[in-house]
Amino acid sequence: MFGGTFDPPHIGHMVTAVRAAEQLDLDVVLLVVAGVPWQKVRSRAISSERDRLDMVAASARGERLLEVCDLEIRRGGDSHTIETLESLRSMAPDDDLVLILGADAANGLDSWERAEDLRTACTVAVADRPGVSVAPPVGFLVERFEVPQLDISSTELRRMVARGRSVRFLVPDGAVAIIDERRLYRVDHDDDRQ
Ligand code: ATP
Ligand code: MG
Repeated sequence: MFGGTFDPPHIGHMVTAVRAAEQLDLDVVLLVVAGVPWQKVRSRAISSERDRLDMVAASARGERLLEVCDLEIRRGGDSHTIETLESLRSMAPDDDLVLILGADAANGLDSWERAEDLRTACTVAVADRPGVSVAPPVGFLVERFEVPQLDISSTELRRMVARGRSVRFLVPDGAVAIIDERRLYRVDHDDDRQ
């Protein structure tokens, strides 16, 4: 599983998911769209679940290694990865579960809900992210994989749209179309700096 707020999805997310599948020989990567990203909601406005789900679906369309997953949205409430992994485990008891993370997310694992249980629930696969050294907390079974280093974040893309700049070629075309049609990110709500 590769979870995120995907507000909006960008080529860093997409290439990370595909490279993980290829290098770690995964059958499929589930792009898990967070319902309520509890570590973010208090610092900025989050786009609606529907908008984020539609953007991720439009981005993944046609790529057989990727599948959009709305489990966290359907479950409702704060999105905790451990609960999602437990649901996936009960749906497919014999599958190996791999949690795919960028370096920044991997380094923060200890702050996640039930971090102790997470350690035994899955293998963690970490992609480098520009400017972030990988130092996941101890006790996780960690694999690394290579991704093109793309210095892009959703935060920066939201700001670009708010300032009237084009995000084409950084965001998959299908998601750009949704941003335009629904006039997302026209006002800069961000007060997080990353
Ligand atoms: P924001 O700026 O809003 O935090 P983001 O670009 O970091 O957005 P998230 O939805 O927070 O995207 O991240 C989901 C996952 O994607 C995390 O594991 C994160 O580390 C990873 N990720 C995000 N951008 C990249 C990138 N450019 N390269 C590799 N991994 C990335
Ligand atoms: Mg982030």
